[in-house]
Amino acid sequence: PMTKITDFTTFGLDSSLLEQVKAKGYTTPTQIQMDSIPSLLEKRDLLGIAQTGSGKTAAYSLPILHKFIQDKKKMPASCVRCLILAPTRELASQIQKNIDYYGKLLSPATAVVFGGVSKSNQITNIECGLDFLVATPGRLLDLMRDEVIDYSQLDTLILDEADTILDMGFLGDVQTILNALPAKKQTLLFSATMPKVIQELATNLLDNPKTVEVTPEATTVETIDQSVYFVDKRDKLYLLLSLLENDETESILIFCKTKFGVDHLVENLEKSNYTVESIHSKKTQGAREKALNAFRNKECKILVATDIAARGIDIDHISHVVNYNLPEDPSNYVHRIGRTARAGRTGKAITLCVISELSLLKNVEKKIRMKIPQVLDQPFHKEFTKEALAEFKPSKKKANKKNKNNFRRRRR
Ligand code: AMP
Repeated sequence: PMTKITDFTTFGLDSSLLEQVKAKGYTTPTQIQMDSIPSLLEKRDLLGIAQTGSGKTAAYSLPILHKFIQDKKKMPASCVRCLILAPTRELASQIQKNIDYYGKLLSPATAVVFGGVSKSNQITNIECGLDFLVATPGRLLDLMRDEVIDYSQLDTLILDEADTILDMGFLGDVQTILNALPAKKQTLLFSATMPKVIQELATNLLDNPKTVEVTPEATTVETIDQSVYFVDKRDKLYLLLSLLENDETESILIFCKTKFGVDHLVENLEKSNYTVESIHSKKTQGAREKALNAFRNKECKILVATDIAARGIDIDHISHVVNYNLPEDPSNYVHRIGRTARAGRTGKAITLCVISELSLLKNVEKKIRMKIPQVLDQPFHKEFTKEALAEFKPSKKKANKKNKNNFRRRRR
């Protein structure tokens, strides 16, 4: 157990896969790859506590592709060999692209299905028989009701970002899908967090799994230069504009709390003559793809997004992530800033914080177990005075609720 694997060649992966790993420019396996690949090659189930940015896609794609080589029978019509569930269209497309890349010399039959677009192409793809099907749960279930998928040949199931899938309200859909699958299969479950519902899912779904855990703190936070700017609410836009002017920015991803916030900021940036693209849940699939492609191809430098639309975005040249608003859920901070410093690059994460967001900032700092350095030398720096802070103490209403809870606890 003390031997340390530092090279992809020690796993015993097929040479065609190693060639693609090399073409991608990877030299050293990431932690999750070191911890998972050997067990996955032994066809064990896996519980991976990790998130996007850890290298988990390659951690499962490579050994599952290796397994596919060993048993390379052509899938009969409508049959699916490996099913991968992902929460969003963006992540699902990205997973398929990764598998196509790593498997390039093996040409597995792959397809991706998600909602918001026509079903007919997706059905045609499935009817040809697939080695890998990547799907969001809603559309998959829809296609299952159309009876176009045959699971009799299925030997592998992967749930990627299981916590996000369930956060998005897909628990019922997921359960229906799981019930339709053969009992005997290799199952992998990845989740960034381990709430009770995921633990239960893991217990029911996995058979003697290997558990691997990589802390996001170690994988993202260390390579990202984080800072926070305290600012008055009415100066926020001006601070952002000054940052856009000053800093050596390559591509910038800006997060807002709401889709209205996104639209409003886009308007303001366009008034200042910036070319901006944006994505949020109310945009059509076509518009989202167009925006993402323009950003990916560097036709525009700035992408403004909400949390949900931006999950899993994997674009190497994002040099800056700006939190125009702090996230309500501190784990989204880790997700957001993980969009920069991809593939071994460095990146900056800048958070703009107004006084009403201080408690959210505290939650983030607790989550990442570090204090984010404050930039004081900036034109719009705002000192949050004791008097001003006093106004934002927990309101009476909240204090009452707390007391009530204490009271309840005591009675019990
Ligand atoms: P993932 O967590 O799968 O979304 O991967 C995060 C990023 O890390 C992607 O840009 C991958 O291409 C990249 N990556 C994955 N494995 C490695 C590796 N061993 N060395 C360098 N980069 C990697």
